Amino acid sequence: MKAKLMKTRILALLLVLFMLTGTFYACNSDPKDAGNAAGGGAGENAAGENSAGSESESDILAIINIQDYTIIYPKDSIGLEQASADYLSDYISDKTGKKLSVADDGSAEGQYEILIGDTNRSSSKEAAGLNYGENDLLIKADGAKVVLYGKDLMAAGAVGQFISQYIGDADIQVSKSAGIVKFEMKDLKNAILMIGDGMGFSHVELAKSNGLASFKAEFLPNKGEIITDSLSSGATDSAAAATALACGWKTTNGYVGMNKAKEPVKTVRELAYEIGYKTAIVTTDSLDGATPAAFLAHINDRNKSKEIYEQIDEVKANEGDMVYVAGTSDKPVFDDFKAALKQISTDSKGFFMMFEEGYIDKYAHSNEADPVVKCVSRYDEAIAYTIAFVMAHPDTALIITADHETGGLKIQDDGTFKFTSGDHTRVNVPMYTWGKGTEIFGSAQENTEVAKFIANIFGESNFGQE
Ligand SMILES: [Zn+2]
Repeated sequence: MKAKLMKTRILALLLVLFMLTGTFYACNSDPKDAGNAAGGGAGENAAGENSAGSESESDILAIINIQDYTIIYPKDSIGLEQASADYLSDYISDKTGKKLSVADDGSAEGQYEILIGDTNRSSSKEAAGLNYGENDLLIKADGAKVVLYGKDLMAAGAVGQFISQYIGDADIQVSKSAGIVKFEMKDLKNAILMIGDGMGFSHVELAKSNGLASFKAEFLPNKGEIITDSLSSGATDSAAAATALACGWKTTNGYVGMNKAKEPVKTVRELAYEIGYKTAIVTTDSLDGATPAAFLAHINDRNKSKEIYEQIDEVKANEGDMVYVAGTSDKPVFDDFKAALKQISTDSKGFFMMFEEGYIDKYAHSNEADPVVKCVSRYDEAIAYTIAFVMAHPDTALIITADHETGGLKIQDDGTFKFTSGDHTRVNVPMYTWGKGTEIFGSAQENTEVAKFIANIFGESNFGQE
C-alpha cells in the first residue's frame, strides 16, 4: 500500500511539474500489475522490459517535452479513435497552451507518439494482442511512445482515463500504469442531452448506407427507444416533444416549457442553474426554434418568436455564465460547440448542456435524402467528440436521442429508402445512453423520463408530471 501511495504522490508531483512546465512524464509498465489485471495470462504481458530498479523509479519511464509529441490514430478506423485524438489534443492545449498535432497512422513514424487504438505501430499491435473484457483498457509507456488502447467505446475510454489520471486536475489515483484495467465509472453529477430533430432509426441507417462509416452513438452501451406522443392527437411537434424532454411534462403541440393548463413548468436547465451549475444550449438552428426554446422560455405558442427572444434575453441578463450558440444551415457550430463544452466544464461545480442538430427535421419534411445524410453525419461528428469528452468526465450522463421522427422514412425490401410522409410520425425514436443508471433507457421509455432522469442527477426526485 505504501508503494502505491508513493506512486500517487510522485505522479501528483509530476502533474504539477507538467502543468507548470509543459513537460510530460510517461509511466512505465509494471509487469506484476499487468499480469494480475489481465487475469494472469502469462506470455500475454506486453510489459516488462523496463522493470529494473525500485518500483517507484520504474514507474517513471520517460521525461520528455510534450510539444515533441504527435497524437496518432488508425487511418482505417470507423470508431472513436480520431475524435478521441482531437479531444486529447484540445484538452492538452487547454491545460498547457501546447497544441499537439494529430495525424493518422499513414504518416511517417516518429519517436514521440501518443498512439490511440489499433495503429500500425508495433507498440499498438502488442497492446491489441491482449485479451480485453467489457470496459477494459490499457494505458502504458513503451519506450518514448504512449499507448492508449481499448476496443470500441474503450478506445475513447483509454484516452479519457489517461486524461483524468495523468493530466487531469483532480485527485490522481494511479497505482498501476500498465496492464489492462477497467474504465472507472463515476456517480453522475452532470448531464449532456443531444437531440437530433426529426431523426428516426431509418435516418441513421440512411446515413450509414450513404457514406457515414458508423453512427458513433451506437458504441454506447445502452440502446433503446423513446415514445414521443404529445397530448395532441396525431404526432407530436418539436415544441411539445422538447417540453417533455426538458420539463418532464407531456403537453399540447405548440406549447414551449408549459403544461396543458398553460402553466410554466421548470426545465432541467433551470434546475441546473439553481444548484449552481453552468449550462449551455447549443443548436445548429436558431435559438427561438422550438427545441432550444423549450429549455429557455415558457410560452403557449412556439411561433411567438419575439416573445421567446425577450424571455431568452431575460435569462441572459440574469444568468451570467450561460452559454448560447446558434447556427444556420450553412454555418457550422462545431467549433463553438467544442468551446461551450470547455467553458461549462472549466472551474464549474457541475454542468448541463443541450445540443440540437436542427436540420434533419427540415430536410425530412421536404423528403430530401442527401441533406438528411449530411445532417445526420454532422450530428455524428458532434456526438463522437462528445463521447470523447464524456469519457474524460465520467461523472457525466450522456443521452443521445431525437424529439420525433419526420418523413416516415422506410427501408424497403430491396434495401432502398423511401419517405412516406411530409410530416412528423408517431414512430419511436432512437435512444443511446452512457453513465451509471442510464441502463433504464435500454428499453422503450416515455420522453418525459429523460427530464426526470436528468433532474434526479441534479438532486430533484420529484420532477415533472406525476
Ligand atoms: Zn418538424
